Amino acid sequence: MNLFEKWLLPPTCVLTGEPAEHFDLSPLLVKGLTRPNDVCPVCCELSLKVGGKKNLCGACLTQSPAFCRTQVGFYFEGALTELVYGLKYHQKPEYARLLAEMTVAYFDFSGIEALVPVPLHALRRRDRGYNQAELIAKELGKLLAIPVISKGVQRIKNTPSQTHLTAKQRHKNLGSAFEVKGDDFESLSHIALVDDVITTGATMQRLARVLQRKTNIKQIEAWAIAKTK
Ligand SMILES: [Zn+2]
Repeated sequence: MNLFEKWLLPPTCVLTGEPAEHFDLSPLLVKGLTRPNDVCPVCCELSLKVGGKKNLCGACLTQSPAFCRTQVGFYFEGALTELVYGLKYHQKPEYARLLAEMTVAYFDFSGIEALVPVPLHALRRRDRGYNQAELIAKELGKLLAIPVISKGVQRIKNTPSQTHLTAKQRHKNLGSAFEVKGDDFESLSHIALVDDVITTGATMQRLARVLQRKTNIKQIEAWAIAKTK
């Protein structure tokens, strides 16, 4: 929010209606949010630091994921759950801007040439009216002045909701779920995939692998507003 907008519309918490400070969430709710610490820089799972350095976790040492780094704003809990559910299930597309404003300062965007939202299948997008990951990517793109590529990759399989599946089922469920279309990725070498929440990371893995196979992109990061604990 710029100064003029702030003067015109002073920040007010969208959840409690209380006055807010930097963005539309009450300072108390902001304070209640936590960020992943001591996590593996590649996958964002817990991994203890040794000798002051961030260490790769065992899983990433054994088989490194398709992406080179994971960055998230917060853990998926408290007010953040409410905001993300509002955005996804209760027709609150305006929350995308708030979520982007809350998290943008935590992303190291050096070298990132484009943001690529994780696509929704066309049917699900039609039901919801929008792709929440795309809205978030667009808001982050505006704040960081990074272009967003939202049509370059499509979800060709309408996978059922991932929420209630085990990690193994999710993995199977996502087989060849994405298709790269057109030449939007030509000349790019470093991008960030953007999603609302990372749970197991399986969706982003699949997307990253498809992009690695079909394009010349060398570095793919995984960005999300939040990560489940
Ligand atoms: Zn890891």
